[in-house]
Amino acid sequence: MTLPPHGRRAAARVRASSARRPSVPLIASFSARASSAVAAVPAFGHRVPARAGLALFALATAFGMALTTSTPAVAVSATDTALSVYAPIQTSYEDTVQLQPQVMEVAGGALIAPMPAAGYAVEAAPPPITSQVASVGSVTLLRAERIVWPVLSPERTSDGFGPRNAPCAGCSTNHDGTDFNPGAGSPIVSIADGVVVLATESGGGLGVNVEVQHNIGGELVTSSYAHMQSGSMTVGVGQSVTAGQQLGRVGSTGQSTGPHLHLEMFGADGVRFDGHAWLAMRVTG
Ligand SMILES: [Zn+2]
Repeated sequence: MTLPPHGRRAAARVRASSARRPSVPLIASFSARASSAVAAVPAFGHRVPARAGLALFALATAFGMALTTSTPAVAVSATDTALSVYAPIQTSYEDTVQLQPQVMEVAGGALIAPMPAAGYAVEAAPPPITSQVASVGSVTLLRAERIVWPVLSPERTSDGFGPRNAPCAGCSTNHDGTDFNPGAGSPIVSIADGVVVLATESGGGLGVNVEVQHNIGGELVTSSYAHMQSGSMTVGVGQSVTAGQQLGRVGSTGQSTGPHLHLEMFGADGVRFDGHAWLAMRVTG
């Protein structure tokens, strides 16, 4: 590798040049020598991209300067005119580096991708919720990201949440859920990622019933799907499910006057809330 000139003779030449010419042309001539020195390095040859070549030039310049300034023969003093020569070269080096923030070529030929200047943030994953369920034991619930309706055609409802006239003998006068009417046999899906904590063919008034626990924004939320068709359950207790995963089909088992999905939703306190309104605010697709 050909190094830029240094030592007493180079310094003398530099001083002589600076006496005759302004410093800018001198930088250009120094740069040309440094560039040809880079081009003479066979290890990089044709594989070095143009900007990497510039980075190499910067390194070569720095190397050359370090060698020059560390050579005792230069002996630059505070009043030496050579200072006015080297100072612009230092500026030129800094300018070159500022133009090369994207990729830096290193000795092994490896490319180091820089960190983005903006829009980079580290966010810790939210902690899971652990719930205790008698039939399952300890249940770990990862945070659900997506919320979906439990049936196709969710706009077809027959009975909303809250007080009502009991539709049948033995039916509650306070409706604990929402009744969806997508049609007998329609698929019923989980409203979000979660874990099945109940899956029974004999859920009493709820008939064939599946319950899924979810971690919604750090809160424990349970969805309960009732009156499914006998034999239509596709999940078992303890199974993890994803948003939109089928649990069973619309039926009329248990205390029911016709095929529909009775959806109940409740938090950790077990108190039922209006699942239809809750979903309407959160469903994104
Ligand atoms: Zn109902």
